[in-house]
Amino acid sequence: MTTALQALERLREGNGRFARGDPSHDSRSDRARRGGLASSQQPFAAILGCSDSRVPVEIVFDQGLGDLFVIRVAGNVVAPSQIGSVEFAAEQFSIRLVVVLGHSGCGAIKATLEQLQRPRESQSRNLDSIVNRVRPSVQPLLDTELRRDPDALMRHAVRANIRAAVSHLRHGSQMIEHLARTEGLMVVGAEYSLETGVVDFFDGVPPPG
Ligand SMILES: [Zn+2]
Repeated sequence: MTTALQALERLREGNGRFARGDPSHDSRSDRARRGGLASSQQPFAAILGCSDSRVPVEIVFDQGLGDLFVIRVAGNVVAPSQIGSVEFAAEQFSIRLVVVLGHSGCGAIKATLEQLQRPRESQSRNLDSIVNRVRPSVQPLLDTELRRDPDALMRHAVRANIRAAVSHLRHGSQMIEHLARTEGLMVVGAEYSLETGVVDFFDGVPPPG
């Protein structure tokens, strides 16, 4: 079993390789590896990321087949099926690190801010279900001075949404709470920069040393 801190280290190292433009060229996705994984898997971390085409989780962490249990949904929002997926990963594969991975320039956050600032009639209940899950964490920002600075507002909103998702995962499941208390499971928040390729782990990560 990989501990939360070991898993975090692997993700940091992998993202470092990716961001430097120096990804591994080993056999992470070759036929032999695929064959070896056909009957079982042992992913070392679960990642709840956004569906954005520019944030493919395995690539930005330089990981291969069988390494990561990935859940992707626009805006990396937490609904019951996402919590269930994390519970499944924690139980089936003894995963001890769960990362909520948001990113700069997220379209779901932008759409939510636009909807809050210039409400329009809803086009789709299904799309609303995403905006409605982002809204509670970003709405309070519009009551601050940030509303005059669209770029800063967007940056804060991305992080607020990640923090909300982390909190929701930590406290929305008895199983996850229990594993966090007794087995060292960690739920952490991170932001990927579209510009630099760097993932910044900023929420729930213990200080180094
Ligand atoms: Zn996004």
